[in-house]
Amino acid sequence: MTEPSSLKLKSEKINCSESDSAKNNSIVNESAEVSELNDMQAQLDFTFMQRAYELAQQAEQHDEIPVGAVVVHQGKIIGEGFNQSITLNDPSSHAEMNAIRQAGTYLNNYRLLDCTLYVTLEPCPMCAGLLVHSRIQRLVFASHDLKTGAAGSAFNLANNSQLNHQIEISSGVLQESCSQLLSAFFKRRRKEKKQAKQAAKNNQLEHK
Ligand SMILES: [Zn+2]
Repeated sequence: MTEPSSLKLKSEKINCSESDSAKNNSIVNESAEVSELNDMQAQLDFTFMQRAYELAQQAEQHDEIPVGAVVVHQGKIIGEGFNQSITLNDPSSHAEMNAIRQAGTYLNNYRLLDCTLYVTLEPCPMCAGLLVHSRIQRLVFASHDLKTGAAGSAFNLANNSQLNHQIEISSGVLQESCSQLLSAFFKRRRKEKKQAKQAAKNNQLEHK
């Protein structure tokens, strides 16, 4: 009488361990799929940030702080922008602002649902507020702005439980290139200012 029961137990145990190993396999497959998806997302993030970087270079060509941004909807760029504050005498003309205005026009909607914004520098408080208003789903930025960044560095407006919309944040994509572009720009500007100051001083001396 005991034999069949123990056999049954044994067979149950075998079944159980078989199903466990099947489960483990499916976890392994699933995690491979997830990492494949992550790889795909990382590749897409890189590609779109490269475009934002090109836009930042355009800003630099206009002697503006080199920041560029793109808005992506369903895998497609629907808005692009770069800093134009000085050119347009418009303090609100930041890269994000310009990209979002274009995307809103494209979607014919003031809500940018299911959109991702890529920007080469962490958004300022104004732009982070704008991202919340526009209901951007995800924000990807390259360099952190420790002084005024509002996606976690100096403030947290992009993902703040006190606000009515929270944004998923990723950072560090193409960070080195974007940071280098910014620091080279500020270095050049400091040098130009110093030279201008020296020239003015020389000019004064000549006229004494
Ligand atoms: Zn801004």
